Amino acid sequence: KPKVWVLGNGQLGAMLTHAGEPLAIDVRAVDIMTPTDEILPLAPHDIITAEREQWPESALSLQLSTHPHFVNGPVFSRLADRYSQKSLLDQILVPTAPWTLVDDKTDVENLYQDFGPRVLMKRRTGGYDGKGQHWLKQAEAGEIPHDWRNLAIAEQAINFDEEVSLVGVRTREGQCVFYPLTLNLHQDGILMASISPLTRLNHLQAQAEGMLSAIMHELEYVGVMAMECFRVGDNLLVNELAPRVHNSGHWTQAGTHMDQFQLHLRALCGIAIPQPQVNFQCVMVNLIGIENDPRWLSLPNAELYWYNKEVRPGRKVGHLNLSVPNTVMLKDSISALQTWMPSQYQAPLAWILAEFA
Ligand code: ATP
Ligand code: MG
Ligand code: MG
Repeated sequence: KPKVWVLGNGQLGAMLTHAGEPLAIDVRAVDIMTPTDEILPLAPHDIITAEREQWPESALSLQLSTHPHFVNGPVFSRLADRYSQKSLLDQILVPTAPWTLVDDKTDVENLYQDFGPRVLMKRRTGGYDGKGQHWLKQAEAGEIPHDWRNLAIAEQAINFDEEVSLVGVRTREGQCVFYPLTLNLHQDGILMASISPLTRLNHLQAQAEGMLSAIMHELEYVGVMAMECFRVGDNLLVNELAPRVHNSGHWTQAGTHMDQFQLHLRALCGIAIPQPQVNFQCVMVNLIGIENDPRWLSLPNAELYWYNKEVRPGRKVGHLNLSVPNTVMLKDSISALQTWMPSQYQAPLAWILAEFA
């Protein structure tokens, strides 16, 4: 039986491993960050995937990424560089925040002229959780840092109404299946909470599916992909793409009959993909830089995923999936969290309550 090897052994790799168990798919999440001379016993029919877009080059990562069954191999580098990712979106006419490459000739005044008084520079590679971003503000005479030239893009600041994401899957045969849109709240560039599904987003579902289908077909992609968007009125603009299972899809563990991790494995292994059934509306709260609080386990509608990582400020160390069997139970649980959680959670928890007001 083929094994599925995952480049990376963080929480996404762990949740993929867990999802393989009921189907007896042997998933091995591989640490590719710690230097080693080790090589793995890969078989020719094994399958390789990744939980991240980028990894350091080593004998081990090369062994995995040059295997003939490294699914979506060329996609990773293409999407890991914001320059080629944004170029792809432009090429297939999928709307995205207006942008340009910042090279040796880029003049900051032209950026303000083209994009307005607030411009967001993003490192082409390596950024996540809002790291690798630099705001240019005309009012503060913001200048391009010299060591960002050729290594960054500049984007128009989007005055979005809110942020949503779509998680979908594509099979080898080109069949695409999607979860309902997810509403996301980011704070300081990092995802704090998600809510899905929401009836009030239904009218955007077809638009979002059309965009992500076009992207996945163009890339001949196989597996789960996530598309982060800005909602501006009734229009969606792609913020960025992730060629993997995604934090904004974690609610599917509690809310659907088949979560994003199993869908990804099924697509990789050529197993049939059903339309996932939504059993519950869900709220996901990311646990960021806080210690495990045993009181969370007493909430009647909560499921805790604790990643068992060292707690550091700004680090994702777990998430809580709260199902919404009724609004009263949700409100009770969120009120309890308001008293238990530190100050940086008060805005996201209030945001959740406002959605259910
Ligand atoms: P992730 O952890 O999702 O991979 P990231 O570091 O790759 O994050 P982005 O998703 O590009 O970064 O941006 C992080 C957040 O910053 C967005 O979710 C959004 O809240 C804000 N943001 C990004 N681009 C813009 C923009 N052009 N205008 C306004 N806000 C933006
Ligand atoms: Mg990103
Ligand atoms: Mg993002």
